[in-house]
Amino acid sequence: MRIPLDRQNALPLYQQIERYLREQILSGQLAPETRLPASRQLAQELGVSRITVNNAYAQLESEGLLYSREGSGVYVLPRTPAPPVADAAGAIWPLWQQAIERDDPPYESRATPPRRIVAHPKPIAFTGVGDRREFPIKEFVRSIQDVVRRDGAAALAYGGLDQGYTPLRTTLTHVLGSQGIQAHPDHVLITSGSQQALALVCQVLLKPGDVVLVESPTYNLALELFRVLDLQIVGAPVDEQGMCVERLEPLLQRRHPRLIYTIPNFQNPTGSCLSGGRRRQLVALADRYNIPVLEDDFVGDLRYEGRVQPALKTLDPGGRVIYTGTFSKMLMPGLRVGFLVAEGPVFKRLVDMKRVSDLTTPTLMQRALEAYVNVGRYQAHVRRSGRLYRQRRDAMLAAIRRHLPAETEVIPPHGGLFIWLRLPEGLSCLDLLPLAAEAGVEYAPGTRFFPIPADGESYLRLNFATQPPAEIEEGIRRLASALHRLNRSVVAPAQKQHPSRR
Ligand code: PMP
Repeated sequence: MRIPLDRQNALPLYQQIERYLREQILSGQLAPETRLPASRQLAQELGVSRITVNNAYAQLESEGLLYSREGSGVYVLPRTPAPPVADAAGAIWPLWQQAIERDDPPYESRATPPRRIVAHPKPIAFTGVGDRREFPIKEFVRSIQDVVRRDGAAALAYGGLDQGYTPLRTTLTHVLGSQGIQAHPDHVLITSGSQQALALVCQVLLKPGDVVLVESPTYNLALELFRVLDLQIVGAPVDEQGMCVERLEPLLQRRHPRLIYTIPNFQNPTGSCLSGGRRRQLVALADRYNIPVLEDDFVGDLRYEGRVQPALKTLDPGGRVIYTGTFSKMLMPGLRVGFLVAEGPVFKRLVDMKRVSDLTTPTLMQRALEAYVNVGRYQAHVRRSGRLYRQRRDAMLAAIRRHLPAETEVIPPHGGLFIWLRLPEGLSCLDLLPLAAEAGVEYAPGTRFFPIPADGESYLRLNFATQPPAEIEEGIRRLASALHRLNRSVVAPAQKQHPSRR
């Protein structure tokens, strides 16, 4: 075999041999199963030591390009076919993959048909969770440093594959107690965000084909979870007082749901809050029909005015309601720390399911969070966020009144993060989407939040917490100009007020 070697080159000879052979193999010049010369022979031909050739062969073997057959020599290893690029036309997948491909298209694209969007250089996003500029990074880093100094390696160990860091669970029960929810640390399970809590509950309680009853509209990634798990989704309407519980009974009788999923406080996406009466009615119905309730309290402590309503969990005589909360909205979503509270046999199942899902929620984050809450930094941050977001809500409501057509309907939320907006008759949030993107404003289209996506065409969800007032004003102005382009007949700014709605 003739391998060109350059003895003046700084690259060692074994690497030159290696490089040459690698190129020959990858380009197909050396076909699979070709037998290479014995190392003694090649060393002689090239005038190098046998060790040099052996080194080159060993490296190529470790890369999976060569293999040795006992007593027979070194061969070119047949290459595993490169995986076809996803979506490449004509890609040949194995049959089981093709079966998956024949299934439904991805859920998100089913809810929101793709449209061509021209990007704006500086878009204002009324999407996402909180305002990153307001994340209490310095204070949280201080808590992380304190914990590492205090706990050393334990802060980065598995830390008990059970319910989560005990002091954090205890601290959580104090936080919950201040909101009127009595929970024992033994009934708290730390999860990787409340999204994991939702998934665990579904995995433990439901099987494909089961019916889950939700508010319609509801949190889009809960809907996606239910769809991914092949559950049937039944929607109950929502008004200004939250889920219309008085319309539930016929649904319960006809559809036999195996779970009721509800967001009673400042619901995602409508911002509405379930009234006290309906809360009692819902727990009573769930009890009568023997249906577990999953209460998702993702921003319960972000109330700007009005009376606190009791959590469904506090109305539960025991074991009927599974409660979940999160630090994503009040603090930072990347922490991935949420929790659930439950009692009875289901709790043990949830703990088991959590353990086999991801062993544990990152220990360092659990400990740092506990330290952060315990020195009062969390409470101070929540109070500050409350003041800030309230101002932003007011700024957005005022901007909507100033710039959007009078026929646009909003229900002012008393807390949380979202304003749910109904477009003037006949306008579609999906048609508006590319125009809004061009104008430089982003929102979540209503279609994402409904069990039947088309039901949401007239709606959009605006997160007012992500932008300061000046950006809110500008963003809504841009939305107004996009709407104006969508329908030139809807131009007159709010002259006519809807006192009950605006
Ligand atoms: N529930 C609701 C209503 C949400 O809006 C979200 C996140 N947007 C979650 C649960 C999940 O949040 P996380 O997993 O970050 O706690």
